[in-house]
Amino acid sequence: MIIAHTIEEVRTQIRQARNEGKQIGFVPTMGYLHEGHLSLVKISKRQSDFQVMSIFVNRIQFNDRKDFESYPREYERDFALAEKAGVNLIFLPEEEEMYHNQRTFVEVESLADHLCGATRPGHFRGVCTVVAKLFNIVLPDVSVFGRKDIQQALIIEKMVKDLNFPIRIIIAPTIREEGGLAMSSRNKHLSSDERKRALSINRGLHAAKSRIESGIRRKEEIIAAVRSELEKSTPDKIDYIELVSYETLQPIEHIEGRTILAIAAFFGSTRLIDNMLIEPEGDSFTCVL
Ligand code: AMP
Repeated sequence: MIIAHTIEEVRTQIRQARNEGKQIGFVPTMGYLHEGHLSLVKISKRQSDFQVMSIFVNRIQFNDRKDFESYPREYERDFALAEKAGVNLIFLPEEEEMYHNQRTFVEVESLADHLCGATRPGHFRGVCTVVAKLFNIVLPDVSVFGRKDIQQALIIEKMVKDLNFPIRIIIAPTIREEGGLAMSSRNKHLSSDERKRALSINRGLHAAKSRIESGIRRKEEIIAAVRSELEKSTPDKIDYIELVSYETLQPIEHIEGRTILAIAAFFGSTRLIDNMLIEPEGDSFTCVL
């Protein structure tokens, strides 16, 4: 596995892989790898021949300095896990390599109005800017994103379409810990009590699932069921519990088509997000966590 720190090195390696007729797969990450990240590599390997992973804690997508500074970083551990998963090239740039007097930023309109876009101003502008840059550096054929961050994945998909990046975006299922907590690098910050309480996010999603599958469609009733589960575990703050259209990411009052139920809540100072897909199936809906 090659570890590249500069854009130049990445370009050289990619050129070589291309000359060998290889298709390039790309998984962007912020590191502190877990099974969720590795599942993306696994999917990418089925679709391409040369696996690139970036590890870059992207300051411009953080709206909280403390969150940026305390974001877990353990690169040696990441290298071992990535190599085992079959990554061929890691791109681990310094901030100066990525941003030098940057004056160009990428924004996708309207899809960032709600959910994390509303509670983390500027977050998706930072995400889109770094991903656009990484796409231009790596020039992948395919890139895999996790459904855990569904709003991010859909915004990237839209950016790729709108800006004509010749890249196929794949959205991969959420990988969960035992008990149902969605894997996240930030879970490292949870105390054992917070971790236990955070399972209420999953219980909230299941409470909504059983209601939706029994025919309830009204937002109010569904959100109340989730809130009641969450509140049993006294989260330190509920950022949002929201039902939005899959297509527009705008809030809806009544489930009709493809819908996302999304949650963001703090346990201690750790902000966790999770979601469930609500898919029409004949006259009913199936819920996918
Ligand atoms: P991050 O390092 O948190 O920025 O995540 C990098 C990529 O991994 C993003 O596409 C995330 O959506 C994805 N990811 C993070 N956690 C999970 C998970 N539990 N299951 C699947 N994908 C995930």
